[in-house]
Amino acid sequence: MSNLKELDAKYIAHTYARFPVEADHGEGSLIWDTDGKRYIDMGTGIGVTAFGIGDPEWKEAVIGQIEKLQHVSNLYYTEPGVKLAEMLCERTGLKKVFFGNSGAEANECAIKVARKYAAEKKGPEYNVIVTLWNSFHGRTLTTLAATGQEHYHELFQPLTPGFVHVTPGDIDELKKVFSENKVAGFLIECIQGEGGVNVMDEAYLKAAEALCKEQDILLMVDEVQTGNGRTGKLFSYMNFGLTPDVVSTAKGIGGGLPMGACLIGEKAENVLGPGDHGSTFGANPVSCAGAVSIISRLTDEFLSEVAEKGAYIRKAFEGFPGVEYVSGLGLMIGIKTKAPAGAVVTKCMEKGVLCLTAKDKVRLLPALNIPMELIEEAVSVIGEAITECEG
Ligand SMILES: *Cc1c(COP(=O)(O)O)cnc(C)c1O
Repeated sequence: MSNLKELDAKYIAHTYARFPVEADHGEGSLIWDTDGKRYIDMGTGIGVTAFGIGDPEWKEAVIGQIEKLQHVSNLYYTEPGVKLAEMLCERTGLKKVFFGNSGAEANECAIKVARKYAAEKKGPEYNVIVTLWNSFHGRTLTTLAATGQEHYHELFQPLTPGFVHVTPGDIDELKKVFSENKVAGFLIECIQGEGGVNVMDEAYLKAAEALCKEQDILLMVDEVQTGNGRTGKLFSYMNFGLTPDVVSTAKGIGGGLPMGACLIGEKAENVLGPGDHGSTFGANPVSCAGAVSIISRLTDEFLSEVAEKGAYIRKAFEGFPGVEYVSGLGLMIGIKTKAPAGAVVTKCMEKGVLCLTAKDKVRLLPALNIPMELIEEAVSVIGEAITECEG
């Protein structure tokens, strides 16, 4: 459709700065636009199509479920959601799962769990949720309040009260904030995604976990971007040996269909009761059937391949001319280029490789099963783009 851009400008709310690519179809880690131009997909729709476009196993699971039943609401039992929840609990040791449809909703649930847990145990004044500066937790008014980036807050006041932000890595500040506020939960990303692929310091995470335990504050990890195999472990907290009380996830879990999940550990497993929370589309059988096909393939062996592929890409750019440093874990990679990241990503797009930015970095979130040949091709194109943007 040649006038897609015009119609989009006319009818779609202008919330997105789009690249001039009209995506038409794809297969695995390749996408073709409406002019037939081929792209290597190093962004997977921001970490969503975990096994690529039209992944056959996922497609079979989804289509099979559509042919049986697409929705009956949470008034009745359906198998895919139960199966998925069982899988997630067995793999994490967490006890209960609430399903929603997005990352923001998964975090909303986490925040409600922390507030109710603290209200019942310590009193309703214990309602403060501490999060990190530079974090990203979603776009609802509550998850925006959780997001530690003030430029998202302007003109949307008042946001939900009860959020305090702290500097990542500063354990003394965290202690002080915990002592000066009545805190219910500490919500963190182990690797800040939108904030620039910033890996948290392990000692800080461990010390924060100990403080939370000591003061009965729920440790909640936002695994919306880092979860579901992205970092070479099922969830990123597993790279740091943490035992969170609550884990929120979304993006890659559905393989391309809307899905969010809030996993609740032993401490708070029975906090939510009938009527406390809900979602009409939550645990949608089609989304859940797709997610079962994703999670069931994230074996230790597969995850170690994810880690190796990530290490290969990071190594290719470490010390590369025009690159200051490389960050990330597994197939969640940030490349701090000397040239502006946006210019590098635009150049990559022109050359047929779709990348993302995260703050001042080029961000790569390729499919977990991207073949080595496409990794090599993409690395070479991104390298050329970096060189050309330098020159
Ligand atoms: C994308 C993201 C969210 C928000 O997810 P939505 O599905 O867009 O609501 C929340 N937290 C993190 C860490 C994310 O990367």
